[in-house]
Order: sequence, then C-alpha cells, then structure tokens
Amino acid sequence: MSQRTKFVLDEERIPRTWYNIVADLPVPPPPPLHPGTGLPLGPDDLAPLFPMALILQEVSTDRYIEIPDPIRDAYQLYRPSPVYRAHRLEKALDTPAHIYYKYEGVSPGGSHKPNTAFAQAWFNKNEGVKRLATETGAGQWGTSLAIAGALYGLEVKVYMVRASYDQKPYRRMLMEVYGSEVVASPSPTTEYGRRVLAATPDSPGSLGMAISEAVEDAATRDDTKYSLGSVLNHVLLHQTVIGQEAIEQMAMAGEEPDVVIACAGGGSNFAGMAFPWLGRKLRGTGTPRIVAVEPEAAPSMTRGVYTYDFGDTARLTPMVKMHTLGHDFIPEPIHAGGLRYHGMAPLVSLVKDLGLIEARAVHQNPTFEAGVLFARTEAILPAPESNHAIRVAIDEALEAREEGTPRVILFNLSGHGHFDLSSYERYLSGALQDFEYPAERVRAALAALPVVGG
Ligand SMILES: *Cc1c(COP(=O)(O)O)cnc(C)c1O
Repeated sequence: MSQRTKFVLDEERIPRTWYNIVADLPVPPPPPLHPGTGLPLGPDDLAPLFPMALILQEVSTDRYIEIPDPIRDAYQLYRPSPVYRAHRLEKALDTPAHIYYKYEGVSPGGSHKPNTAFAQAWFNKNEGVKRLATETGAGQWGTSLAIAGALYGLEVKVYMVRASYDQKPYRRMLMEVYGSEVVASPSPTTEYGRRVLAATPDSPGSLGMAISEAVEDAATRDDTKYSLGSVLNHVLLHQTVIGQEAIEQMAMAGEEPDVVIACAGGGSNFAGMAFPWLGRKLRGTGTPRIVAVEPEAAPSMTRGVYTYDFGDTARLTPMVKMHTLGHDFIPEPIHAGGLRYHGMAPLVSLVKDLGLIEARAVHQNPTFEAGVLFARTEAILPAPESNHAIRVAIDEALEAREEGTPRVILFNLSGHGHFDLSSYERYLSGALQDFEYPAERVRAALAALPVVGG
C-alpha cells in the first residue's frame, strides 16, 4: 500500500526573510489605540512591554524582514518542516482530491509556536532583557517559550490558565523541566490576580485574565518584558516561515492548491500558512481559496463583531480592531485549549473583513472524529486544535468526491496531540460535549465593548 509521500527541503532552504502581508494589502491596517486615552499608539507606548526590534516589526510596512542568523540557526533544530501527501487518508475517503499537509509538530514543543518563541527570545536577549513574562492556555505556548528561554539563558515566568494547570499537569512539568516558573492564573503574585481571587476564589481563569497578569508583571519590572504567543503582527510575521516553505514544497510536488486551510485561535498558525499564499495571490499568482477554521464554542470570526476591543480582561492591553466576542467572554472549556480566545488577530480579522479569506466554525465531536481517522491513516496523533483544520480538509475532500472532480487541498497540521490523550479518551468514550453557540453570553460580553470614536 502506498505510504505518505514526503516533500523535504534542506536546511539551506529555511527562509531568509519573514513575509509581511501588510505590504500587499489594498488598505493599511487600523492602528492600535492606547487603552487609557483611546488615541493611536506610538512606539514609545509599547516600550515597557516589548523590545524595540519587535515594536518596529509590529508597525512595519516592508514586504520582507530579514531573519537574523542566530534565529535561523535555532530554526535548524527542526526546520524546514515536512509536507506530506496523505495518500492513505485519501484512500480511506475514496476521494479524487489530493490532500497535502505541512507538519509543524516536528518542533521541540510539538507545535508551530517555537517559530515565534525563538525569535522573540532572541530579540529580547539582544536588547539586554533578562526575564520574560507570558501567559499560556493549554500549555503549548508556555512550553515553547520555556524552551526558548533555556536556549538563550532568559528567565521565564508563565501564568497558566487555572483550568489547564489542573487538567494538564504534564505541560506544567515540561515547562519546569526547561527551567520556567509556572503559576496558576489567577495567581496571588499580581495585583490583578489577587483582585480576581478575592471576588471569585475558584475562578477557572481565562486567557484574557492570564494576559492581564503577565502584562502587569512586565510593566512593573525593569528587567522583564512581555511575550505573547499569537495575535500580534510580529507573531504572525514570524510564523510565515510555514507558508513560504510550503510554497516551495508544493512546487516540488508539482501541484497548486485549490484550497489552503488552517485552524485559528489567535490566528498565528493560520496566518503563518496562509499569508504567503495570500500575498502571492494578491500579487497575481495562484487562486487558492483560503479557509480559517474556528470552534463553535469561540466563534470570533463567524459570530463576533469587527470592532475595537481589548486583548485582555483587565483592559491593560492596547485596543485593537478585530473580530471579537467581547473581552469579558470566557469560552466553554473545550479540549482545543489553544482555540479558546475571545478575539482574532487584527491582520486576520482585516483580511476576513476584506473578503480575502473564508471562515468556518466546527463542533468538537466532528473535529475529534476527523483527528482519529487521520491518526489511523497517517499515523500522526494530531493536536485537538489541528483537528479543526483536518475536519475541513476532509469535508473538502468529501465534497470533491460528491462532485467527482479533482481538488488539491493543503492544510497546516499545527501540532501533535501527545499531551491531549485525556481529550481523545473523552471523545472515544462518548463523553465529549458539543457546546451550542453561546448567543446570550456573547451578547452580554459585547455590551461591555469599549466605545471608540470615529
Ligand atoms: C496554540 C495552538 C493553536 C492556536 O493558536 P494560533 O495562534 O491560532 O495558531 C493551534 N494549534 C496548536 C497545535 C497550538 O498549539
């Protein structure tokens, strides 16, 4: 039986630049606004939180930004990542479609997140920063930054959402092995955390709360900066190594994708895969449809509003224009922890608003069904987040079968699911719940949106 075909690039082909979609968009992105004054932010406003190199990337309009050699060296630990053709999955689906996937689970940490963790740690180190504060939901981001901290000799403090801290002890242990300090958020170690705990001692936490704690930590210490694993422009930028490599690998395969798919929580692996393809399309080459997949339980793009909102619960972050469910919205505890965020990256939100990409929302059970079929045919156990992309890739392949027409499908397999077996167990035993779109709670959270002039 035919196994997967693998498309590998040698280390030489690790991209030398990151790709900035802003250079190819028909309109400039709306500016971030100061959380206090509501006026557009200047670079100095961000200086307490980020090193200048990352601030400049955040506002850059250059199409290509050079990747410093020490970061390319770190990328060599696992890049270029492979693209596979999923022959066995195609056969199981009896589809004329060709299914390809880019596998980011080969990184230390097991997901795409080290692509930006290594870059952020290096730029901080390069400007003399000693310590990073960050939040983590399911633990993949915290793990990736912990590894980066170990490689570059930076202290890392991770505020881990309480619900995950209790449910995913192995992720916490892994971060500790790499030398990071991990506390459950809300924690007694910040003023905001103490305030939440006083009001709700058994709070399960949320990404929005953990971000507030990490931002407070960085803003109140001179030796510390803040690091975010998704959403921001510079984070999306670092992830574009994925799509740039994939473009070369699809050329090796001699195929042009009809559809490019990725899951979207904050939007970074989606942008990393999709933006290089979208930029190429905007410059006149190729016509793939581009699809972002989100959970029904946190449907920011398919059900949220495109407006200015805060990135966190305490309203410490700048306001950015994005698809949001409201900064007070706490999604149901679905098993794709990396997709439980109230907002979507401003750049992903903008291309969605411009009609340049499609968005779909899917329920948990169908995503695990897809993930299990994928594991049994392709032998890789996918992360629950990645199962969202697999679900839509399979749906596309089934549609091609119905139509009896060929279709070339490319999706990003953002990570492996070795730490998510308890979620698979729940699925296999029939205990996994599908949450209806929480219309009431979204309406309540949207009522608390900031009012911004203009
Ligand atoms: C964190 C994570 C995601 C979601 O984050 P994005 O910023 O939307 O990419 C998706 N897949 C995996 C495996 C993750 O770890």
